[in-house]
Amino acid sequence: MYEIMVEDEFSAAHFLRGYRGKCEKVHGHNWKVTVVVSGKEIDKRGLLLDFHDLRKELSQVLERLDHKDLNSLPFFKKRNPSSENIAFYIFWRLEKRLARKNISLARVTVWENCRQSATYFSSGGGYGSL
Ligand SMILES: [Zn+2]
Repeated sequence: MYEIMVEDEFSAAHFLRGYRGKCEKVHGHNWKVTVVVSGKEIDKRGLLLDFHDLRKELSQVLERLDHKDLNSLPFFKKRNPSSENIAFYIFWRLEKRLARKNISLARVTVWENCRQSATYFSSGGGYGSL
C-alpha cells in the first residue's frame, strides 16, 4: 500500500452548543488540515496521485470554510462545528471530489492547534444519514 499526505489550513469562527466552558463563546482558530490518500497501485509516473491535484481539491473544499462563521453554515446548523465534525465534513466533501478507482481517502485530521487534533476515517460502514 502507498499513502500520500498533504496539508493546508483555514481560519474560521465557531462556538460549541451545549458545551460548558471557553468554547461556548464565539472564538476563532487557524485550523490545520492534513489529508491522507491511500492505494495499492501507482501509475506509470510512479505516483499514487499528483500532490498538486490533491492540494487543489482540498483547497476548494476549505474555501467553503475559510473566514466563515461555521455555526451559520447549513452543514453545522444541527451538528456542532467541533473539530470532529469539521474533519467529517471535509472527508465527506473531499471523497466526492476524489472519485478515482485506484485510490481511497484514508483519513482527514483537523488540528485546532499544535497540541490537539481530531481525525475522521471511514470504517467502511458508510456515512450514516447526512
Ligand atoms: Zn474552538
